[in-house]
Amino acid sequence: MSTIETHPVDPQVELLSARDVPLGGPRAMTVRRTLPQRARTLIGAWCFVDHYGPDDVAATGGMDVAPHPHIGLQTVSWLFSGEIEHRDSLGVHAFVRPGEVNLMTSGYGICHSEVSTPGTTVLHGVQLWVALPEEHRHTSRDFRHHVPSPVALDGGEARVFLGTLAGDTSPVPTFTPLLGAELTLRPGASTTLSVDPAFEHGLLVDQGEVTMAGTPLKPAELGYLAPGPTTLTIANTGPTPARLILLGGTPFEERIVMWWNFIGRDHQEIVEAREAWQSAADRFGSVTGYPGDRLPAPVLPHTTLTPRGNPPAAQSG
Ligand code: MN
Repeated sequence: MSTIETHPVDPQVELLSARDVPLGGPRAMTVRRTLPQRARTLIGAWCFVDHYGPDDVAATGGMDVAPHPHIGLQTVSWLFSGEIEHRDSLGVHAFVRPGEVNLMTSGYGICHSEVSTPGTTVLHGVQLWVALPEEHRHTSRDFRHHVPSPVALDGGEARVFLGTLAGDTSPVPTFTPLLGAELTLRPGASTTLSVDPAFEHGLLVDQGEVTMAGTPLKPAELGYLAPGPTTLTIANTGPTPARLILLGGTPFEERIVMWWNFIGRDHQEIVEAREAWQSAADRFGSVTGYPGDRLPAPVLPHTTLTPRGNPPAAQSG
């Protein structure tokens, strides 16, 4: 009599390190960018991950981003501390606050400004973008706000701002299947989450010593896990609380061109969007109430922008 025994193998976690990117301005705020990068363009439809702070606003000047355009994407703003005043060409005037998600859909074209409020002393959070799929990328402008109730995890809490996790579902609609959640874990805690096996996942460490499916991640690193597993175990192996952002989605199969604040499919679309912004065309509308000029588009590179997707999936054993 023989028994075939299978040994569970730790799923392979790919580490994506951050690079520091100055946002510009007189006292430039610097962000840690983990998407896009050479090794990976997207996780699900998540295509841009900027992580910043905690920044002492007295030293950095905080955030002051003049009106600028977007096409083909959604912006997802999530703060850990501080407050940002948002104005856009839908006419929305809103505040981004800790634990409250603001999702703005650019569709065919929108513009907005983002300014940290005078009462903000420490600015700390993430700015995320979602690529819109072909059939919806020319949709109309939209803006959503949601305050998720914290849900209990083993040894911590989750705040689900997009999609479903730990029994909670965000009411904010998405154009592709997505997950976005803030997780906190107490020192020494480990939690095993049920996840959608059709999703790939990214785990961004804000603070703490954390393992994702057994692989250690440092603060500001983004761990990537391919589709397949039905559970994901995350542990806080350190002596201090951990705070994380968990992103997920079904692999986004379209190749995209990302340039400045635009997501398109080819070079010509980007040229047209840039020209429309520079000529203040109706496509983007206008922001009222921002005390200053709109941001001019940078000069296009001399080379032709080429669409990018993810590298081919690694063969799993
Ligand atoms: Mn923006």
